[in-house]
Amino acid sequence: MKVYLSKAIRIKGKEWSIACDSTNSKYYPLVFYSHAHSDHIPRKLPSTDIISSSATRSLLKNFTSNFTDGEFFEDYKIGETTFKQKSAGHIIGSTALKIESDEGNLIYTGDVSIRDKGFIEPFKPEKCDTLIIDTTFGSSEYEFPEYKTIIKETQDSIVENLNNNTPVVLMGYALGKAQMLYHAFSHLSDTVILHGANHRINSLLKSEGIEGTVDGISYQDAKEKGIIENQRNWILFAPLKSGRNEFYSYLRNKVGAVLYAFSGWCISSNYKYRMDVDYSIPISDHADFSELLEICELCKPDKIFTIYGSNVKFAAELRKRGFNAIPLSKQTLLESYF
Ligand SMILES: [Zn+2]
Repeated sequence: MKVYLSKAIRIKGKEWSIACDSTNSKYYPLVFYSHAHSDHIPRKLPSTDIISSSATRSLLKNFTSNFTDGEFFEDYKIGETTFKQKSAGHIIGSTALKIESDEGNLIYTGDVSIRDKGFIEPFKPEKCDTLIIDTTFGSSEYEFPEYKTIIKETQDSIVENLNNNTPVVLMGYALGKAQMLYHAFSHLSDTVILHGANHRINSLLKSEGIEGTVDGISYQDAKEKGIIENQRNWILFAPLKSGRNEFYSYLRNKVGAVLYAFSGWCISSNYKYRMDVDYSIPISDHADFSELLEICELCKPDKIFTIYGSNVKFAAELRKRGFNAIPLSKQTLLESYF
């Protein structure tokens, strides 16, 4: 088995090859899409065999063209090699890929989290020979607070604002972070409002029968009914953007709302000021530094390839701890055989 980067993350066995999270429409004999974030899928699906979860398949149907040409599989087998999915704990429908063959076992995590957020199954590390791991937050300053504690503190803060007649805007990406926010905070107000982007994704998840939705009215309806300007007890779920953005400036300065940003990048002390928000809460869909180390320790791989974010730094950290780890890059091809 070999692992390399060539316009996509490629894994090749003696009799098969697969491309993981390819963002181009180039033909590969077999592709795997770990989840439906735009940096992991193409605009136009290739006409080939595709492994994904049923939820990711439903999202791909709506986010890409050429949907009908490829054939989708939950599991796949070529000769003695099996391809199976397991929850990656990142967003709705996200999966890791486990390849088992007589050439060894490999796990490709895609974007990954091992935190129990109460509504999607976390990634469960298991022994493998080779691990390809998402290291978005693979630098040691990225240590997120304990999940239940930060959720409870944020709930208290939101309730305090609502009790003081201050409307609340909770900002996070409409696919992924938003479902986490609905699960943790939507019960705190009887008036739940969804920004257009959130409303579109929420309606799509509902129509496809995918979990993680919330009952709420669209911002447009709330505005037309006078709720935004005349009520004080609402929560608006909206995409994460700077507080200087015209829409958020209006909500803060004219309506008196407060802005909460939710992101792993909130660990950086200047993020709150850079984004010009009232609260910055370090909650992420990705594993933090310690959790990435924990995954590697539990998987006990002979070889680790790091991808995304701090992949060079994290591979160096792993080597210090005795792992055989390298960042996946175009140069990796030469040294990728095992
Ligand atoms: Zn993602």
